[in-house]
Amino acid sequence: MSISYVINKNQGGISLNYITLNNGTKMPQLGFGVWKIENKNMPAVLNNAFNTGFRSIDTASVYENEEGVGEGIAKSNISRDDLFITTKVRNKDHGYDNTLKAFEESLKKLKLDYVDQYLVHWPMPQVDKFIETYKALEKLYTEGRVRAIGVCNFTDEHLSRLMDECEIIPTVNQVECHVYLQQQKLKDFCQKHNIFLEAWSPLMQGEALQEKIIKEIANKYKKTAAQIIIRWHLQNKTIVIPKSSTSSRIAENYDVFDFELDNDSMDRIASLDKEKRQGPHPDNMNILE
Ligand code: NDP
Repeated sequence: MSISYVINKNQGGISLNYITLNNGTKMPQLGFGVWKIENKNMPAVLNNAFNTGFRSIDTASVYENEEGVGEGIAKSNISRDDLFITTKVRNKDHGYDNTLKAFEESLKKLKLDYVDQYLVHWPMPQVDKFIETYKALEKLYTEGRVRAIGVCNFTDEHLSRLMDECEIIPTVNQVECHVYLQQQKLKDFCQKHNIFLEAWSPLMQGEALQEKIIKEIANKYKKTAAQIIIRWHLQNKTIVIPKSSTSSRIAENYDVFDFELDNDSMDRIASLDKEKRQGPHPDNMNILE
């Protein structure tokens, strides 16, 4: 697991910081989440995101916007090799054959012939099919249809079982993670097994931007609250995928490579942790969509 910061001259001098996943694949540490962006708006939003510098896009079958992502990619003039596209198996598609079928559907909607990363969206322990679901991901990986495979919303217990019963260690575990739910214990577990923690709802869907301590730190660095939080994720070696449909915010969220939070600021943010969730605990997710 390593992180390297590079300026890519081929992409107009845009800063890109890559992490190296446990299978050697490089992934931008800062990506762009697209949950709740509708198909019809996606090409324009992605055009903004690409022009700003984002190259990693996080979508999912259940977001019902893979077609829009595909259209946005097709309209861009960015080489496919420079993009990192993640999508996910939805809860209703768990199971070996269902997952293989769902993958083909996602690929068709995205108009791609491979995805960079394919993730199990939720473990759904009450359905108890995440092992066979992940085995389908292993098959896709072995056949070269995906460059990396991983999971979302797995606890350390789910991960332990997965690693006992499957062959390939997941590259990432994408979980709810923000200043009020810092996930240090799970992160330590993941790090021990060479799995990157990836933060969903990294801004707590905007709620964390109102935090007094974040605002004070933002004043100190003359940055916005969102920039402070995104920078905090990056310095914590977490993959981070903020979502925005607003062009000024998209630009703001990418403008985080020209400053560094000092230890005091990092410690003050660490003190905000209070195990507060926005979404369900993985063991309680029961939406079979
Ligand atoms: P975020 O924490 O990224 O927050 C998004 C919200 O914050 C939007 O309302 C956006 O508004 C607002 N916002 C973004 N940037 C700024 C800014 N600079 N200033 C003020 N407001 C801002 O929430 P998400 O839940 O979208 O999480 C990010 C991504 O994580 C998702 O899009 C999805 O890809 C992924 N995800 C994965 C899950 C999983 O189970 N694996 C679950 C949930 C999310 P606006 O758009 O109006 O600008």
